[in-house]
Amino acid sequence: MDKKATVLEIVNRLDKRYPNVKTALNFNSALDLLVATILSAQTTDVNVNKVTENLFKKYKTAYDYAKVSLEELENDIRSINFYKNKAKYIKNLANTLIEKFNGQVPKTMEDLVTLPGVGRKTANIVLWNAFGINEGVAVDTHVKRLSNRLGLTENTDPEKIEKDLMDITPREHWGKLSHLLIMLGREICKAKAPNHKICPLNDICPSSKT
Ligand code: SF4
Repeated sequence: MDKKATVLEIVNRLDKRYPNVKTALNFNSALDLLVATILSAQTTDVNVNKVTENLFKKYKTAYDYAKVSLEELENDIRSINFYKNKAKYIKNLANTLIEKFNGQVPKTMEDLVTLPGVGRKTANIVLWNAFGINEGVAVDTHVKRLSNRLGLTENTDPEKIEKDLMDITPREHWGKLSHLLIMLGREICKAKAPNHKICPLNDICPSSKT
């Protein structure tokens, strides 16, 4: 199988195992998802979801985050690690959204990556999960590791990996592919001990014997 056929087979098989896949972060709006993504750095999605349950009831717009004091916002997210820095990032984000985008989250990659702390990975996650737009493949640590193990790329730089994945994957699967690989990476193809035996991809994976 060439890489294009392999990636289609991967999507087909993982789609059956993880139907209706999407980000594990809870959100009601694109703004929620941006904030949740900032909070998720170096912590688990479960921890973030615990905090955002109340946070998203209190803060519904960029103006809500902009007008609250830094101390109050810190207090609202203090159970998350690095909460002081993260509160600053959220305030910065809210102010930029108000100054440049009328308080709305933009719907293009070009605009999203101008926001403080937002790179292609976060922009791809927001575009696909909040707006249903396939603009690229979000490459996080799981996608990076699995793409290499599955022989889809030899690159290690996330932007180069993303380009390789976009070249071999039909556009309508870009957003989904990322989340399917993340699910497999969390459940079976873990960094330290990949469980090849129970993996649904073991017969098409070049790393299944290593
Ligand atoms: S066969 Fe092993 S290395 Fe390949 S994707 Fe599955 S768990 Fe990962």
